Order: sequence, then C-alpha cells, then structure tokens
Amino acid sequence: MPKIPRRQFLAKSAAFAAVAPLIPHVVTGQTPGRKLGVALVGLGSLSAGQIAPALQKTRNCRLAGIVTGTPSKAAEWKQKYGLSDKSIYDYKSMSRMADNKDIDIVYVVTPNALHLEHALAAAAAGKHVFCEKPMEISVDRCQQMIDAVKKAGKMLGVGYRCQFDPNHLECVRLAREKVLGDVKVIDANFGFAIGDPTQWRLKRELAGGGALMDVGIYCLQTTRMLTGEEPVWISASEVKTDAVKFKEVDETISWQTKFPGGVVTQCTSTYAANGLTGFRAATTRGSFGLEPAYFYTGNRGKRSDGPEINFPVPDQFVLELEDFADCIINKRPTKVPGEMGLQDVKYLTAIYESIKKGRPVSLA
Ligand code: NAD
Repeated sequence: MPKIPRRQFLAKSAAFAAVAPLIPHVVTGQTPGRKLGVALVGLGSLSAGQIAPALQKTRNCRLAGIVTGTPSKAAEWKQKYGLSDKSIYDYKSMSRMADNKDIDIVYVVTPNALHLEHALAAAAAGKHVFCEKPMEISVDRCQQMIDAVKKAGKMLGVGYRCQFDPNHLECVRLAREKVLGDVKVIDANFGFAIGDPTQWRLKRELAGGGALMDVGIYCLQTTRMLTGEEPVWISASEVKTDAVKFKEVDETISWQTKFPGGVVTQCTSTYAANGLTGFRAATTRGSFGLEPAYFYTGNRGKRSDGPEINFPVPDQFVLELEDFADCIINKRPTKVPGEMGLQDVKYLTAIYESIKKGRPVSLA
C-alpha cells in the first residue's frame, strides 16, 4: 500500500467521515427480500459498457429485462445475462411489462428526445422510472414525464451519476461548510471531440441540442450542487467552427450565471475538443476543484490548502442504482428527482434563448 503522509491521511479520513452519510452504501436501511428488477430501454454504448456491468455488482437490484429494436442484440443479451424470453421486449411491446412482476424499475437509456415516450410506456405498465440525462429536450416534455410517473404512483429519478461520486460530494461539503471561506466564482468545463457525423447526437430531432445538452449539463449541475441555489440570470454565446457537422446542434457554448448568494459562474461545453473536464471553485481563502471531474472513474482534485481530493469510486452507476432501489425499498425520496431534471432543462433552454436573443436572460 502506498505510504500516505499523516496530514494528508487525517485530512482524507476527516473528509470521508463528513461525506460518508451522503454515500448510499452507508445510508442503506432495510434490504429487500429480493433484488428489485431493472429493465434497460436501449442497449447502446452506455447500457452495454456501464449500466449492465454495474447491475452485475449491485446489492439490491439486478438486470431483469431489456427493450431493444435489434433482434441480434436481444439474442446476445439473453445469452450473456441469462434473461428469459418473457423479459425481452421491443419498443412497441413495452405495455406487456405490466404482467411482468420481475421488473420493478425501467431505466431509459435511449436518445434524449425518446425519453418521454419510453418513460410514459414504463409508467403506464406500472413501473418506477429512472431516466438518463438530459431528462428530455423541453420543459414541457419533462413535466409530462413527471405527471405520468406521479399518476402511476411510482418514483422518477434522473441519472446524475456525479451526485453519487464521493469526490463531488467532498467538494459540496467544502463549499457548504465554507472550509476555505465563501465560494465566490465557479469555473466548470466539459467537452470532447465528437466523431461520427451521422450519429443521433448531431441530430436536433433526437438530441434536442448539442454539447450543451449532452455534457454542458454536468457543468450546470456542478454550479447548482456547489451553491445549493438556483441561478437567477444567464448569459451565453456560441461558436461554430464546423458549420456542416454542427448544422443542427451547438458545437461550443460558453455561459455565465449569477446565483442569489452572489456566486458567479463561467462554464463551457464543446464537441470540438478533448481535454476539457474540470471545475474550480474560487473562495475567499483559496480554491478547490476536480480535474478530471466528469469521468466514470478517476475523478480527483486539489484544495489550495494542501490535501488532495481523491476518494476511490467503486462504480458511479452502482452507487446511483443502489440508491434509487433503496429509495423505493425504504420509501424515501430520491435526491435526483424528475423536478431536478426539469430545472436543468429549463436553464439549458434559457442558455439557448440568451444566444438567440443576444442578451442575458433573467430567471427570477
Ligand atoms: P447510443 O447511441 O450508444 O445508444 C442509444 C440506444 O438507443 C441504441 O441502442 C439505439 O439502438 C437506441 N435507439 C432507439 N431508437 C433510436 C433512434 N430512433 N435513433 C437512434 N438510436 C435509437 O447512446 P448512449 O451513449 O448510450 O446514450 C443514451 C442516453 O444515455 C442519452 O440520453 C445520453 O445522454 C445518456 N448518456 C449518459 C451518460 C452518463 O454518463 N450518464 C453517458 C452516455 C450517455
């Protein structure tokens, strides 16, 4: 085991003790008689690479069904995960889930503008809904999802994995406890150089927007998490260096927000460049932040007074899934509800409005 300097170890231990109550593994209460069954809608890269493997490791939920439009994927997943024929659906047959007691939760992992359709089908079948970010592409569509799941008497959560990453939670603690004084300015950026020009992420109808909707939402979340407040004012500008590839969606957007407590933020999202994944909070006595901040693993950072922020993260998807299942089992509210997803879409929409109007937009 590498030797950790005592000061750093103590700082880490104290910090862990402080964030521990926020980590689902630590707070879980009653465990179920059986694991809750999760059906994945959309077997693309996130489902195959992250969520299904995470469901092999979760203590209180398990993969119990799939929804896919591709028969070859159905056969492959059936064999790989030992699924029965009755737990395999296509997008048109989701209503049959109503008769499948093995499925408790439907996790929607399709392109952004299809989330509502699939969440409505899940709610109509009497299932809890967990939905990937962004929740949908308009505030109205988010509200329809909230209403439908509420009417079904089920729980709705949004896949904000960073809300469960102990490194992010430590930064929230530093901000809220004013460990380095008051947070005054936050700088958050996320982007990657997008490849295939034919993918749905570049089609407005399916994505709702570009890098802002896809990765800018993480920066927006950071500013809301650290301040614990809602922005009152947003101003944004956009740059396109490839008008053909980004004909339908945004390539790079920078935006500023003001929060009621006086914090100002500066964020950038881009589909044009790699290496942009971090945030920094400047405080009255120093600073702290994560770099990288938004990866699935390995997020870490520094405090200006010395200690590193570097908690091991077993698997963000295990943490978010176990927490959602625990909310259902123990009948407690999720900390990533549909209302949080709707608020983010409201602010993303205001960013697009600010760009269109060429002036700041008031949210108060
Ligand atoms: P993907 O393209 O890899 O997979 C999308 C899936 O939807 C595929 O299985 C595809 O067949 C299916 N699909 C159904 N109808 C479709 C249609 N009309 N057009 C295109 N595909 C269709 O995408 P992904 O990266 O898995 O993203 C899915 C969702 O998950 C998105 O909302 C995305 O924002 C979100 N996501 C979240 C994270 C995260 O870290 N939380 C990471 C990646 C993606």
